[in-house]
Parts: sequence; structure tokens; C-alpha cells
Amino acid sequence: MSNHSIVLKSVEGIDTERLAKAVCSLADDSITVTLTGQNDREVKGSVVNGDGKRYDVVLTPERAFCDCPDSTFRRAACKHAVALALTILQIPAVEVEERKPDLRLKRMRTSDELAHDRARRLPALPCEVSL
Ligand SMILES: [Zn+2]
Repeated sequence: MSNHSIVLKSVEGIDTERLAKAVCSLADDSITVTLTGQNDREVKGSVVNGDGKRYDVVLTPERAFCDCPDSTFRRAACKHAVALALTILQIPAVEVEERKPDLRLKRMRTSDELAHDRARRLPALPCEVSL
């Protein structure tokens, strides 16, 4: 899945009022959007309003999260989420790893490595106990 797919899904069904607000705010530079991170499940960013208030936004394929009152009470995409989504769409898409079998293999490998680490550290304990 590309980061474009994630942000498009997160703001799916956005109402025209919030879409218009986001587009206008971006167009007149009254808000500043910064991409702070992304992986196969989410795209994160911060949006600073004209009045200097900062909101942290997380976009997932399921929904958009923002800590502004609009998003918190409505539990739906707000203008900050749309502004972040639109900003991401302006830059070339980045393919992010999908949650499919290959990733599951990677996760299993990771837990194997953890178990291996634990196994390597454990032998010291029984020796001390037996003393
Ligand atoms: Zn918001």
C-alpha cells in the first residue's frame, strides 16, 4: 500500500465544508503541515493553525485521528486531517510495506530473535540458583 492510499482511505467520506476549509487554509498558508512519520499502517503529521495551535494528526486506512475538538467529538476526519492528506498527495507516493505474509514472516523472525536473545541470557540464572 502506498502512503497515498492510506491518506485517501483515512479521509474517505469527508464533508465538503471541511474539505473546503482545508483547501483554503493550505492555499492561503494559514496552516503549516509537517509530516512526522509514516509506516505501513499510518501516516503522522502535525498541523499548526494560524493562531499557533498545534494539532497532531494520525491517518490510518480506517480513520483519521486528530487531537482537535472537532475530530475528538465527531470521531471523523477534521480539516487538519484533510490538510495533512492533501499535503501528502502533493508529494510523490511512497510505497510502504503491506501487512501481508512477508511482513508476518518478518514478525516471526523478530520474535525468534527475541527468544534467541532471551535463551542466550537465561543460562546464567540456573547456574546461580544451583550454587
Ligand atoms: Zn483536527
